[in-house]
Parts: sequence; structure tokens; C-alpha cells
Amino acid sequence: MKKSRHELLRSIPKVDTFLGLPVFEGCASKVLLPLIRERFGRLRIAIEEGKTTDVNAGKLAEEIRQAYDTVMTPSLQSVVNATGVIVHTNLGRSLIDPESFEKARALACSYNNLEYDLKKGKRGERYSHITGLMKMLLGCEDVLVVNNNAAAVFLILNTFAKRKEVIVSRGELVEIGGSFRIPEVMKQSGAKLVEVGATNKTHLRDYEEALGERTRLVMKVHKSNYSIEGFTSEVPFAQIRTLAKARGLIDYYDLGSGHVAELPYGLGQKEPGLHEIMKHDPSLLSFSGDKLFGSVQAGIIVGKKALISKLKKNQLLRMLRVDKVTLAILAEDVQKMLRDEYEKIPTLRMLFETEKTLEQRAEKLKKRLEKSVSCEIVRTQTVVGGGSTPNRKIPSVAVSVTSGRLGANRIEALFRAQRIIGRIEAGRFLLDLRTVSEDEFDTIEKGAECLISS
Ligand SMILES: *Cc1c(COP(=O)(O)O)cnc(C)c1O
Repeated sequence: MKKSRHELLRSIPKVDTFLGLPVFEGCASKVLLPLIRERFGRLRIAIEEGKTTDVNAGKLAEEIRQAYDTVMTPSLQSVVNATGVIVHTNLGRSLIDPESFEKARALACSYNNLEYDLKKGKRGERYSHITGLMKMLLGCEDVLVVNNNAAAVFLILNTFAKRKEVIVSRGELVEIGGSFRIPEVMKQSGAKLVEVGATNKTHLRDYEEALGERTRLVMKVHKSNYSIEGFTSEVPFAQIRTLAKARGLIDYYDLGSGHVAELPYGLGQKEPGLHEIMKHDPSLLSFSGDKLFGSVQAGIIVGKKALISKLKKNQLLRMLRVDKVTLAILAEDVQKMLRDEYEKIPTLRMLFETEKTLEQRAEKLKKRLEKSVSCEIVRTQTVVGGGSTPNRKIPSVAVSVTSGRLGANRIEALFRAQRIIGRIEAGRFLLDLRTVSEDEFDTIEKGAECLISS
């Protein structure tokens, strides 16, 4: 017999008793209660509008439990990066070496001398923990570490060129504009950007002609996310440095993806290393900690002591400063670089791996996956990513996966549902071994099994 609306409304469980159902065992009531109230509220409306003819407590409970699990599952999760892109901006950029992280964990979970001088027994400076190491690594006078490289750019412009002028090549600004919006950050710093040259060509005389009373900085920005090929010219940093020095101005190089290792596959030709730029004795140089440098998210500023101490006096630094975890990881990683232990820097380890090693790993993965899908080993190319080495491909090896009548897009989506991110190339779904370690094979194998039932 059909229940009346009144009867239906009365059959909605009492919240107190509903809460006690076994399905909710161990649930936090702070989360559960609002979910129940919200669901019951919708149910009441549905009954009043005649859209529901039944109240099924068991089904309601299941539904609410699912909503609870969704809320309480952290949305930030590990994924398998099988895209082959080593510094993947969407997938967390550089990996942190577990050993460095372990050291940082111990420090962060106990009190420490972050801003305490143990010798003098009084207030110390957080940046002091990285200064000595960085000086050794790069031969710089001083160093400052901020939240990221965008913050470094902002702090430098705000400190030295607020309501004053910065000269920068239009071509370089255009190129970082697209995805980074760094030109916007620069404008927010209060500095007036004086863009010189054409999109494809800038000459030293363009800089010279733009110099004026209000000029404080001459800046070079590394062409990061792509490069204009063909009829182009840009002014080398050495010339900018010389010009700035002659006019008593500050030269500043925003390098973006700074690195210390000798890069393989000829990448070093297009991507100047930190040591190379340090040879020109820059007034200021900044780069990201988690691009090709291969460490933690940070903006690292190196340069002249007098300038760095001005940066340290800027009140904005308080908002951009890094925490103990960042400093601890960075200190660990820089020590590894000083010992030439590049294999312990995951980003560099992946970059240096030979095609032979990748092929052997691909063979192993293929064997594991063949039980559930069809696989083939393919030679391919990938990019380093993270706005570094624009347009430069490096060789890689991938396992291409096919399964029955499933298309590449469908396969990609099914793997993605298992948090395995691959890429589609020439209509094929690829798992690129450049960024996949053997530890992840179990996960990938399970992911592939899900394709059988689809
Ligand atoms: C990546 C990049 C930035 C921004 O650095 P973040 O660490 O992402 O803040 C700025 N300038 C250049 C040239 C870059 O390549």
C-alpha cells in the first residue's frame, strides 16, 4: 500500500539512532552529522514534492557512508608518473630524496635551532643554516631562500626597483608570460617594467637606449617554457652584466631552472648551468629549488652580500620566508651535490639514466603486464619539463599498452582512475620508463588488471 507523505516523513530515521548503525562505526561525528542532516533535508523536500515513495534506511546509510569516505580521504594522493616528463609541474615537480626527507622529519618533529645561535645563546638567523653550503657550491658571497622563484623575483624587484625602472627584453617576458604570469608578479612588485627590443630580437643598444635616471636594475630572464626558433637574437648575460656595472646599476638574472650537474644529451648547450653564470659574477641570480636543481620547492637567490642584506631587511621577506622543513631538505641535498652524489637527487638520477637501463626496466614491466594486456616496447622521446630546456627532447623507452577493443583514450582514463598517469602518442597509450621506478610495478600491474574487466 502506498504510504502518505506524512507517513513517509515520519519514517525518516531519528538522527541519534541512525548514527549508531554499524556502518558508521569509527566515523567522526563532526563530519557525519552535517552529512546526515544535509541528506535527510533533501529527502524531506523530495517527499514533500512527491518525488519519493519510499524511505530505505539501509540505502541512505550506505550513501552517507560513501559521502563520508569521500570527505575523509585526502585529496592529495600519490600517483605514478608514467608521462616521462621528469619535472612535471602538475605532478609535484621534483621528487624529494627519502634520505633528505628523513633528516628533515627528525628535525621538524623536535625543537631545533632554526633561529637560535647555539654558540652565543641568542637569536640567530634561519638562512645561516644554508649559507655556508651554498657559498661552497656556487662560490657566491651570500644567499637567501624564499618560498619559490616567483617570490624571489618579486622580492628583488620590490626591494631595488619599487617606483623605479627595470629594463628587460620583451622577448624574454613574452616567453615566460603564457603559463607563469611572471610579468604580472613583476608588476605587482611596484617596479616599472621597461620592455625593450622586439619579440624576436633584442640588441645591447636597446638596453643602452632605455637606461634613464630612474633605472635601477637590468634584468635577464631565462627563456623557459618554449623558444622562438629562427630569426632571433638575445643579449648574453655577460654583456648585460658589463653594461650594468659600467652604469652603477644592478644586474639580475632570473634563471628559473638552475642546475649544477653537467647535463646529458647535449642539454647543457641551451640550458646554462649555475656554475657557468657564476663565472660572470652576477650581482643577483635566482632560480627554483625544485626544477633541474632537483630539490625542494624554494626560490634561491645568490649574489653580492650587500644586496642580499638589503633583501633581508625588506619586511615582505616575512611573508615569503621558508620553513624549517625546506631549509633542512635543501641543506641535505646541497651536501649531496657537493659530494657529487647526483644519483641521490631523483630528478638528476632520472635524467642521467641510459636508454639501456630504461630498456631493461621496460622489459621487466612488459613481463608483468603481459598477463592482462598486450604490450610492446617502444623507443620514444620525452622532455625534461618544468619550464626547462625548451623544445629539447631526450630519448626514452616506453611500454605501449593495448587491450581488446579499448581505445587509447579509454585506456588512459582507466589507468588514470588507478592514479597511473601515462601519455598518448600517435594514438597509442604509453607508460614511459624515464619516470617510473621498479617500486611502482606492483601498482601498475594492478592497474592493468582493471582493464580486463572493462
Ligand atoms: C619557473 C620560473 C619562474 C617561477 O619559478 P617558481 O619556482 O615556479 O615560482 C620564474 N622565472 C623563470 C624564468 C622560470 O623558469
